Amino acid sequence: MKVPFLDLSLQHQAVREQVLMALAATYDASRFILGKDVEEFEKNFSATLGYPRALGMNSGTSPLHVASVCGSFGPGDEVITTPFTFISSAWGISYVGAKPVFTDIEEDTFNLDPAKIEAAITPRTKGIVVVHLFGQPARMDEIMALARRRNLFVVEDCAQAVGARYKNTPVGLVGDAGTFSFYPTKNLGGCGEGGAFVSRQDGVFEKARLLRNHGSAQRYHHEMVGFNFRMDGFQGAVLNVKLPHLAAWIARRRAIAARYRAGLKLADVRLPVQPDYGESVHHQFTLLHPRRDALKEHLARHDVGTDLIYPVPLHLQKVYASLGVPRGALPVAERVCDTCLSLPIFPELTDAQVDHVIKTINAF
Ligand SMILES: *Cc1c(COP(=O)(O)O)cnc(C)c1O
Repeated sequence: MKVPFLDLSLQHQAVREQVLMALAATYDASRFILGKDVEEFEKNFSATLGYPRALGMNSGTSPLHVASVCGSFGPGDEVITTPFTFISSAWGISYVGAKPVFTDIEEDTFNLDPAKIEAAITPRTKGIVVVHLFGQPARMDEIMALARRRNLFVVEDCAQAVGARYKNTPVGLVGDAGTFSFYPTKNLGGCGEGGAFVSRQDGVFEKARLLRNHGSAQRYHHEMVGFNFRMDGFQGAVLNVKLPHLAAWIARRRAIAARYRAGLKLADVRLPVQPDYGESVHHQFTLLHPRRDALKEHLARHDVGTDLIYPVPLHLQKVYASLGVPRGALPVAERVCDTCLSLPIFPELTDAQVDHVIKTINAF
């Protein structure tokens, strides 16, 4: 039996007719930039997931950049973030000339460890970029308590956590700004690039709205240096078709994760814990194993696709070598990068495929 790590074509076959009809309507109206499809998506996204409002953007990286501007991060400032994430989580900090300060993670949740954040705060610390990695919310109460004491601006990178809640609050509304990606492989993916920005603060949200569109609320009148970070109409149209399926897709991801948890018996495998403050939406299902590379090869030999997400922590990336953080400085993140293995988890996987993965791992 073949089990691909990810097969997006199955989802796209299922919604093909609806998506193509929506795209045709957008095409016929020549509604290519923002416009009705994007406005409808912003409304539907907010209403479905519990946001007061949302801004559609052109990627998941752009809202992180916007959030750094809203937080007034700049040269001389330090912004704390996790070393175990996709590189974009740190890009927003670097784009505005601030310094990313990587602090270590918890092995159990793969997210920032509040105690390590506290130890890294200096008089120059201006903010924290929290990542809800793999769909698992981070420990926001502890992080927000630190942030309030020091008046830090908190950005939540929710690229992998669309649909997740921290306690009763949708991710992205706990901190000062929340960002999403609709990159095709994400839990809610467009047919191209896309992203969104949310904030519980009116001032932050309205500033982000201006920044998205050339610093302009009124055409040809510009209030600040802005960007062209607008979502295009085709992505709004696709996302409007897919959004109503998100809850069922998340439920299926959770069912697959539960099946993995119940079935995986291999000694020395470590599974992520499920904290009671917020259930993961399982963008990834990632285990730790001391012989990760051999386990990956064993699975490949049995037609099971896996991936290393992520093989190198951000402080050891060439781009951040100038920060001078040596190997050994963030031992948990480094160990996790050396031993992590992400298993197939997408809504269209069958139980038989999941059982084949489990059986193959247990036989290693
Ligand atoms: C995908 C992702 C992003 C960036 O999204 P793009 O849409 O690819 O720009 C940012 N942060 C995390 C954690 C991501 O997984």
